[in-house]
Amino acid sequence: MGNRRGVGRIAVSELRNTRQRTAVMDALNASNRFQSAQELHASLADAGTRVGLTTVYRTLGALAVAGDIDTVVSADGQVLYRRCDVERHHHHLVCRVCRRTVEVDGPAVEAWADQVADEHGFVDVSHTVEVFGRCRSCAAKP
Ligand SMILES: [Zn+2]
Ligand SMILES: [Zn+2]
Ligand SMILES: [Zn+2]
Repeated sequence: MGNRRGVGRIAVSELRNTRQRTAVMDALNASNRFQSAQELHASLADAGTRVGLTTVYRTLGALAVAGDIDTVVSADGQVLYRRCDVERHHHHLVCRVCRRTVEVDGPAVEAWADQVADEHGFVDVSHTVEVFGRCRSCAAKP
């Protein structure tokens, strides 16, 4: 009896985790901008979804580790998250005002990274290159 209650509790909490994870995923899918955990938490609250900030952080962390979402670090040190359209390696152009994001390829960066790694005998290399700036519409504002 006690055992069955225990199993039930686990099932309920797993269900809740799945629902919250789905809510976080849906919020990420609904936006093409990079967002902080706080911003995502606020937009979930605006939409009437009650998910704790700690859960948002934990879910984003797990999704990032699993490679399901991309992260960048803003100039002020905030970690920003985004669900990208493509799974293959790519880079980002990020507007530092509105966070509008464009996914871009960087063949010159890929070639350069391979070349310098090769020259110094590094193997199994990876790199992170993001370009921050102001997008066309933000640049047009006074
Ligand atoms: Zn991306
Ligand atoms: Zn912008
Ligand atoms: Zn690259």
